[in-house]
Amino acid sequence: MSDYRVLLYYKYVEIENPEEFRVNHLNLCNELGLKGRILVSEEGMNGTVSGTIEQTESYMKAVKSDERFADMFFKMDPAEGHAFKKMHVRYRPEIVSLQLGKDDLDPNQITGQYLEPEEFKAALEDDNTIVLDARNDYEYDLGHFRGAVRPDIRSFRELPEWIKENKEKFMNKRVVTYCTGGVRCEKFSGWLLKEGFEDVAQLHGGIHNYGTHPKTQGELWDGKMYVFDERISVDINRVDKTVISKDWFDGTLCERYVNCANPKCNRQIITSEENEHTYLRGCTHECRVSPENRYVKEHNLSQEDVSDRLALIGETLPETV
Ligand SMILES: [Zn+2]
Repeated sequence: MSDYRVLLYYKYVEIENPEEFRVNHLNLCNELGLKGRILVSEEGMNGTVSGTIEQTESYMKAVKSDERFADMFFKMDPAEGHAFKKMHVRYRPEIVSLQLGKDDLDPNQITGQYLEPEEFKAALEDDNTIVLDARNDYEYDLGHFRGAVRPDIRSFRELPEWIKENKEKFMNKRVVTYCTGGVRCEKFSGWLLKEGFEDVAQLHGGIHNYGTHPKTQGELWDGKMYVFDERISVDINRVDKTVISKDWFDGTLCERYVNCANPKCNRQIITSEENEHTYLRGCTHECRVSPENRYVKEHNLSQEDVSDRLALIGETLPETV
């Protein structure tokens, strides 16, 4: 059995002195022995931490004892150990970077209607509803709700611009958004309302809540869910799990994520262990032959070894001058 847990939580609430809060909160986490990443801002707090069951229990109690966070919704995952190497509590102007500038909003004033997992499932099955994935493209590619729209963006910040360009597709429909734990949809769904969309809703507690909820158990979710910690991905569908993500190199079904070995690229790619070795974990020829290729360093490959490997895939090292 797993003795550890990962907590995922956020709350939009005014924090008057975020720097003071940040320092005190970091002390609390360190005293408890937690590890993780927490963002603090004037607008609230957004965190993921890991620890033993006892440590996370004490933490939740401590957080809730602050009246601003008394109703904090903690999403929990059992884990086999810590999901982070260190403990960081950082100040950010926003607890999720959407950079709306003059269009910035307070989700406590305007946000999409909250749908509980069962209501969201009904929305997934309704033809007059557009279900919009409010995450990054690489998250969608590893797993998503069946039939959900994949915005063609590399980063969440590009989402408002993408919506403006594709507005006519959604304008007269009901729009339902979802993200990992719900925090990204808070502002994004509010922004949709401000943009003139009339019927906007969001999945309460995000994909995580949908996966753990006894009534839905992740049904209609395909693939895995990307997470921003050392676990990289977690299972969501406990009813009829499927694999949908494809190997970067050969297109076969695969769920294993790695970062491109070229530190200047670092692209997240899905690939098998076998192809990782074949392609020196480089997403392109340039990344494979990069002098900084981490795979080459980790495996102590000589130039000759590299050139032999490349020959197997019909590539050669660039001529050295
Ligand atoms: Zn690359």
